[in-house]
Amino acid sequence: MIEDMNPFKISQNELDLAAEIMNLDKKAHAILREPKRTIIVTIPVKMRDGSVQTFTGFRVLYNDARGPGKGGIRYHPLENVDTVKALSAWMTWKTSLANIPFGGAKGGIICDPKKLNDFELENLSRGYIRALGRTIGPKIDIPAPDVYTNPQIMAWMMDEYSELVGYDEPGVITGKPLEIGGSEGRFDSTAMGGMYVLREAAKMLKMDLKDSKIAIQGFGNAGKFAFEIATSLSGAKVVAVSDSAGGVYNPDGIDYKKLVEAKEKGGGVQSYEGAEKISNEQLLTVDADVIIPAAIENQITSQNADKIKAKVVLELANGPVTPDADRILFERGILDLPDFLVNSGGVVVSYFEWVQDIGGYYWTQDDVYKKLDTIITRSFNDVMAMQKKYESDGKRISPRTAAYIVAVDRVAKAMKARGWY
Ligand code: NAD
Repeated sequence: MIEDMNPFKISQNELDLAAEIMNLDKKAHAILREPKRTIIVTIPVKMRDGSVQTFTGFRVLYNDARGPGKGGIRYHPLENVDTVKALSAWMTWKTSLANIPFGGAKGGIICDPKKLNDFELENLSRGYIRALGRTIGPKIDIPAPDVYTNPQIMAWMMDEYSELVGYDEPGVITGKPLEIGGSEGRFDSTAMGGMYVLREAAKMLKMDLKDSKIAIQGFGNAGKFAFEIATSLSGAKVVAVSDSAGGVYNPDGIDYKKLVEAKEKGGGVQSYEGAEKISNEQLLTVDADVIIPAAIENQITSQNADKIKAKVVLELANGPVTPDADRILFERGILDLPDFLVNSGGVVVSYFEWVQDIGGYYWTQDDVYKKLDTIITRSFNDVMAMQKKYESDGKRISPRTAAYIVAVDRVAKAMKARGWY
C-alpha cells in the first residue's frame, strides 16, 4: 500500500501520476524525480560536560530552476535522508504553486532537542551552518524553522553564517526574531493563508461562511490561529476542536477565549467545559461544513473518508489525507483543498522576510497580510483554472492533481528556459 511506502518513494509516485496526466516531457520528468544535491554532514558538538558528541545533518536542494532553494530545518531523533528528500520535493511544488521565485530544499539533524540544553543546542546549530558553509546563502538556498526549530535557532544560524562570510547577512535564513530582520505577520501566516483559501472556496461554492460550522483537528500553532482567525474574520462557528489527548464538540459553538483559558490552566482542550468530549476520530466526522486537519499526517484515510460529512476539507497540516482518501473525497464531491496550497502562507511570508532583508526596508503587518492575500488568492484561482481546463477537455481531476500540474509545469518550463533539457 502506498501509505506504507518510504516518503521519498511517495513523493516520486505523486510526481509520476501528475507527469502522466499532464504528459510531461520525459527528460523533464527524469530530472524532477531526483534531488539536485544531497549534502550529509557530521557535526562535532562540545557538550556541557566537556565531552564531544557527533551528530549527522542533512541539507537537500531538490531543484533551483525557479530560484534559490527554500525549506525548513528539522531537529528530530528519527530524521533520515529520505524524509528530507521527500520534503524538499514537496517544497519545490509549494514554492512553484505560490509562484514565488524559489526552488525547493529541506534540512534536518538527527537529534533529540529535548535532551540538549541551550549551550549544546547553540553549538549544534552553529556547527550545522559551519558544516554547510557556502552551500547555503540568500542566492543559493535559504533555510527556515520547522519541526523543533524556532526563531532563536534561526538567529544563531544567521549569526554564524554572517561570521563565516564576514558581513551581516539576514537574508540567509527566514523565521528570525523581529529584532534581526524577521517579518511582521509571520506567526499566524500559515493559518491566515489557509483562511484566505477558505474564503475563496466558500465564494466559489456560494457558501456563506457566517452560517457555517467548522471542526479543527489540532490546537497548536496552525490550529489555534485558524480557530481565532476563522471566527473573527468570517464569523463562522467552530463546533469541534481537538489536541493529541482528544477533542470537544458543541453544535452551538466553542468559545475561543474560554478554550484558551482552559488550555492555559494546563489541561488539554478536553478541560473546556460546556461541550461533549469526543475522540480525534469522531472529530473528523462531526456535523460540520468545513473540516480543518491541523495536526499530523494520515488522518483521513480509506477507513473514514466515506464518513466525512463536511463539504470542504481544508488541509492545514501536511499530508493529513492519504492518496486513497483523496480519491474517495473527490468521488463524493467533497472539495479537498491540498496542503501545499492551503498551508503555503508560511513560506510566502518567509519569501516576504527575504525580500525585506535584501531590500533593508521593512513592512507593516497590514502590508504583509495584503500581499499574502494577493498571492494566496492567485494560487487558489490557478488551481481551479487548471481543474476547469482539464474538465473542458473531458478529464476530471482533483484539486490536488490540478495543483501538482500547475506547480510541475512551472518548474519544467523554468528548466527548459535554462536549457537543462
Ligand atoms: P504544533 O506542534 O504547534 O501543534 C500540533 C497540534 O496537534 C497540537 O495541538 C497537538 O496536541 C495536536 N495533535 C498531535 N497529535 C494529534 C492527534 N493524533 N490528533 C489530534 N491532534 C493532535 O504544530 P503546528 O505548527 O500547528 O503544525 C500542525 C501541522 O501543520 C503540521 O502538519 C505542520 O507540518 C503543518 N504546518 C504548520 C505550519 C506552521 O507554520 N506552523 C506551516 C506549514 C504546515
